Amino acid sequence: MASVISFTEFNTESAEKSHRGHREIHEKERMKVGILAVQGDFEAHGATLSRMGVDHVFVRTPSDMDGVDAMILPGGESTTQWKFLVEEGLDKALLAHAARGGATFGTCAGAILLAREVSKPEQPSLGLADISVIRNAYGRQLASEVRHEATKLSPALMEMVFIRAPIINRTGPSVKILARSQGNPVLMRQAQMLIATFHPELTSDTTVHNYFVRMAGGEISVSEEDPVLGLASSGKELWSSEHGDEYIQRLREKTE
Ligand code: GLN
Repeated sequence: MASVISFTEFNTESAEKSHRGHREIHEKERMKVGILAVQGDFEAHGATLSRMGVDHVFVRTPSDMDGVDAMILPGGESTTQWKFLVEEGLDKALLAHAARGGATFGTCAGAILLAREVSKPEQPSLGLADISVIRNAYGRQLASEVRHEATKLSPALMEMVFIRAPIINRTGPSVKILARSQGNPVLMRQAQMLIATFHPELTSDTTVHNYFVRMAGGEISVSEEDPVLGLASSGKELWSSEHGDEYIQRLREKTE
């Protein structure tokens, strides 16, 4: 990349603020994201962060979370994931991480794990996000599709992959809706939590992950409508051409 600037060139606060591009690189250099890797779609999140140059680690035990600034809870099967969380004590570690102000991003099953109320079927969850979730609300395997929707993150429509997605049928007053699909919220934020019922890790568009990393670094306040303009990756090749079907197939196998 021709635009990469040496990290040592801007080590003061004022130098950082004087150039937005520099600050983004600085932010990525020091941010470490943990990806819950007990079951499901964790590898695709890792691949996305690798493409963005963001440091990350797969988390299977509470000690894997040492030094982690932000956590991603991937899609998969939320009942299985919940069992592992409790067995390993990761439920408590995730609550402690959130209580310290650490950012958390839940996608699909991860969104279910964050929700305050879960139905169809009911199951325990971390209860951090003031939302109610209906699992498998679109039916079983049939309900996997790609939609293109407007979001508050970027002017372009976003390609969204839904796989046995839950429906969020209630959001509390502290939840800011960043995108809807078919009338239901599909991307939202509550304080340092980001929630998606679709799978942004399955397209080559890094807009949502970029938003999360910037949010985790304190760059985007919750009241800010603004956009992560200019940060979105332009290509869509990963999903739309060669790898899309393969990814969906793999994820389906993991979410049986
Ligand atoms: N429906 C699944 C569950 O309840 C989630 C599916 C997904 O993560 N793609 O766990």
